[in-house]
Amino acid sequence: MKILVINSGSSSIKFQLVNVENEKLIAKGLIERVGFKDSIFTYQFPPNLKIKKGCSIDDYKSGIHLIIETLVNVKDGVIKNMNEIKAVGHRVVHGGEDFASSVLITDEVIKVVEKNIELAPLHNPPNLLGIKAAKEELPDVPMVGVFDTSFHQTIPEKAFIYPIPYEYYKNKRIRRFGFHGTSHQYVSIKAAEFLKRSLEELKIITLHLGNGCSISAVNKGKSVDTSLGYGTMCGMPMGTRAGDIDPNIILYMMEKEKLKTNEIKQIIYKKSGMLGLSGISSDMREVEDEALKGNERANLSIDIFSYYAKKFIGAYAAVMGGVDIIVFTAGIGENSPIVRKKICENMEFLGIKIDENKNVVKGELKNISSIDAKVSVLVVPTNEELMIAKETYKIVSVIK
Ligand code: ADP
Repeated sequence: MKILVINSGSSSIKFQLVNVENEKLIAKGLIERVGFKDSIFTYQFPPNLKIKKGCSIDDYKSGIHLIIETLVNVKDGVIKNMNEIKAVGHRVVHGGEDFASSVLITDEVIKVVEKNIELAPLHNPPNLLGIKAAKEELPDVPMVGVFDTSFHQTIPEKAFIYPIPYEYYKNKRIRRFGFHGTSHQYVSIKAAEFLKRSLEELKIITLHLGNGCSISAVNKGKSVDTSLGYGTMCGMPMGTRAGDIDPNIILYMMEKEKLKTNEIKQIIYKKSGMLGLSGISSDMREVEDEALKGNERANLSIDIFSYYAKKFIGAYAAVMGGVDIIVFTAGIGENSPIVRKKICENMEFLGIKIDENKNVVKGELKNISSIDAKVSVLVVPTNEELMIAKETYKIVSVIK
C-alpha cells in the first residue's frame, strides 16, 4: 500500500511516498518558503535523482497540489495516477491529552487539533492547513493524524505534573507533554527488533539529539518519562535553546535587565544552547571542528551538552530500575562519535561501555557497545516518516 506522509511546518511542506508493506521509500521532497514568491521545491526519486527548482507556492493548497502533480507526472513521477495513494499520514505536533494514539482524521478530530492550538501556536496551525489542503486535493482518501505527543501519554502523573499549584494542571492543562514521540517510539521498536528481543522485556533510554533534543525513558515499549515538557524549552541544551535553566535567570532578565517577554524568548530559544555557549554555531559539526583545533570554549560547550545527556541517562536508569539499551538517534546522535563517547564515558558502573572502533559509525544502524558491556548502546537512524506511514496503515487497514 502506498501512503503519502505529509509534514507541514510554518513555512515548509515535507513529504514522502512510502510503500508501507516493504518499508521502501518511493519518493520524497520538500517545499520551502511556502507563502513566498521565491519558494524552493526539492524532489528526490529513484534511482537517486534529484530536482531542485524555484517556484511560487502561495499557500498549502498549491503546495500539496504541486506534490501530487509531481508524483503522477509522466516524466519524473513515480505513480500512474493519484488513486495509487491509498492513505495520507499527517504529522501533527500537539495532541494535548486528547490523543494517546494516532487517529483517523474526521471533522471532530480537526476541531480538537484546533483546540490544542493554544498548546502549540507555531506548529498546530500549519499542520491543520496541510490536512485541509490534502483533504481538498484527495477528498476520498483516508487521512490519519500522528501526534508527536501521543507516545508520551503513558507517562505517569508523578512524572508529568509539575510541582506548582495543582490548579495549573487541573484548570490550565499545564503539564509535561513531551515531543519527538514518533522518533522515540520508532527507534525503540527498531532497537528491540535489531537485538531480536521483545520490547516487553526491555528498559530503553532513547537520546534524540538533533537541532531539537529530547531523551526518553521507555519501559516495556511505553514512554515513562521524557526531557521535553509543557513546551520545547527544557531538558537538554539544544542547537539554540537553553534547555533546563533555573527560572531565577528569567526573573533576573525581567527584573534587573528589564527585558520584555519577546526579548527573553529570543535569548532562551534562539541565542542559547550550542550557539550561545560556543559563540560559534548551533551546528554541532562546526563546534566540533573548532574544538578539534583547540578552541576551549567549543570544547566546554560539547562537555556541557554531553554532561546534561549523561545526567538524564542516570536519572532514567534510576526511574526504570536499570537500563538494557541506550539508543542514539537524530543528526548528532547518529553522526557524532565525539558526543557519543563523551556521554558514555565513566558509565561502566551502569554496565555502559562503548567500543571506540565501533563508535566511528555515522548514520547507520549499529551496536557500538563493547563486547563485555551489559548495556547495548546502539546507533539507530530515526525515520519519523516511516513510523507515520506504519501508524497510518494500522488505522486504515482496520476501517477497510
Ligand atoms: P532537526 O532537529 O532539525 O530535525 P537533525 O536531526 O537533522 O535536526 O540534526 C541536525 C543537527 O545534527 C545539526 O545541527 C548538526 O549539529 C548535527 N549533525 C549532523 N551531522 C553531524 C555530524 N557529522 N557530526 C556532528 N553533528 C552532526
